[in-house]
Amino acid sequence: MAKKKRKIRATFRKNRETRVRESDFTQRFAQDEEQTENVHQSERISGKGDLTRKRTVVAGDDDGDEFNLQIDETGCLKGRVLSVRGLHSTVHADDGRRFECATRRLLKTLETDMRHVVATGDRVVFRPIDDNSGIILKTEPRHGTISRTSRGRQHVIVTNVDLFVIVTSAAEPYLKPHLIDRFLVTAEKVGIAPLICINKIDLIDPAALQPLVGAFRQIGYETLLTSTVTGQGIPRLRQRLHGMESAVVGQSGVGKSSLLNRIDSDLDIRVRSVSVDSQKGRHTTTNATLWPLEGGGYLVDTPGIRQFELWDVIPEEIAGFFPDLRPFVSACRYADCTHTHEEECAVKDAVADDLLNARRYESYCHMFAGDAI
Ligand code: GDP
Ligand code: ZN
Repeated sequence: MAKKKRKIRATFRKNRETRVRESDFTQRFAQDEEQTENVHQSERISGKGDLTRKRTVVAGDDDGDEFNLQIDETGCLKGRVLSVRGLHSTVHADDGRRFECATRRLLKTLETDMRHVVATGDRVVFRPIDDNSGIILKTEPRHGTISRTSRGRQHVIVTNVDLFVIVTSAAEPYLKPHLIDRFLVTAEKVGIAPLICINKIDLIDPAALQPLVGAFRQIGYETLLTSTVTGQGIPRLRQRLHGMESAVVGQSGVGKSSLLNRIDSDLDIRVRSVSVDSQKGRHTTTNATLWPLEGGGYLVDTPGIRQFELWDVIPEEIAGFFPDLRPFVSACRYADCTHTHEEECAVKDAVADDLLNARRYESYCHMFAGDAI
C-alpha cells in the first residue's frame, strides 16, 4: 500500500551551523552524514535565517510516527535500540551483534512535538561503520509507546512494547485488586495488551482467588497464577514472554525479580551488574533499557520511573478504559453521566442486575474520585 506523503516543516537547530562539542565518536561519522544528506533531492532549503533555517522534507505519513526519508539501504542492518544515552544508542542488530550508534544528523534535526527521534525500543535501519559502531539512518513506525509528559512535551520512555505484565502477589504483600485495575487502565490507555500475573500462589488456597480471576478472564484479561517456589505457571509465563517486548510492573516485594530469574537465569545477574555500576556513577542514566531474553524477545527495565508516574488519566476518560463498563455508558440518561451519583445511570443499573462486577465498579468510583491506592 502506498504511503501518503506529507510535508514536515523541520526547524534546524543552531548546532547545525556551529558544531559545539563533538566526541571523536561523532566526528568519525561526520563525513558519512554529509554524504547521506546530499542524496536527498526531495529536500528544499526554503529559509535563510541566521539562527534557524527551515527545510521542507517529504516524509511518509504514519500518524506522524515515521520519517520515511528515502535512503539507500544497501549494506545497512536492522536492529532494536536497547538504550539511548544522549545522541548515542546501543543497537541490537537482528544478527545478534551490538553496535554503538550515532544518529544521522538529518534525523536529529527533524524536530516536531510529536516524537523524539530515537527512543529505547525503536526499530532502526543503520549503517555499520565497523564491527561495533554505526549510524542510525531511519526509525520504523512505532506502536505500544509508554511516555510521560513533561513541560508540555511528550517524553518517550520506551516504544514497541507488546505486553504489559502486571505482577501482583496473592499474599505478602496482600493482594490489591484495585491496583491491578489501575494498571489495567494504564495498559488500555497506552494500547498495550495486559497480562495479569498473580504470584506467590503457594501462600494461599488458589480456590479463594477464583471469583477475582474469573471476573478478569471474563473481561478478556489473561490472568496467570504463578509461584517461584513451586514453579506453577512459570512455563506458561516464559512462553508468553517469548518473542515479545514486555514491560513488567508491580509493587516491590511481589516477586518480579524472582520471576524474571526463573524465566531467564542470567537476566537478573546482568541487570544487577548494571545497577551496581550506576551506584559507582559509571552509568548516570535513568532511561529505559531493553534486555534481550535467552529465548528471544526483550524485557523492558525502567529504572528511575516510579510505577505511578505513568498515571496521567483524567477522570472523564476512565470509563472508556474499562471495557466491561463501556458498553453501558451510551444508555445513561445524561450524556455527561459520571456513573457515580446520577439518576437513571445504565452503569449503576448494570451493577444492580449483576451484569457488571461490583468490585470493578467500585474500583472505577475510587479512580474517578482520585482516591489514593
Ligand atoms: P520484587 O521486589 O518484585 O522484585 O520481588 P522479589 O523477587 O525481590 O521477591 C520478594 C520476596 O518474595 C523475596 O523474599 C522472594 O524470595 C519472595 N518470593 C518471590 N516469589 C515468591 C513466590 O512465588 N512464593 C513465595 N512464597 N515467595 C516468593
Ligand atoms: Zn451513568
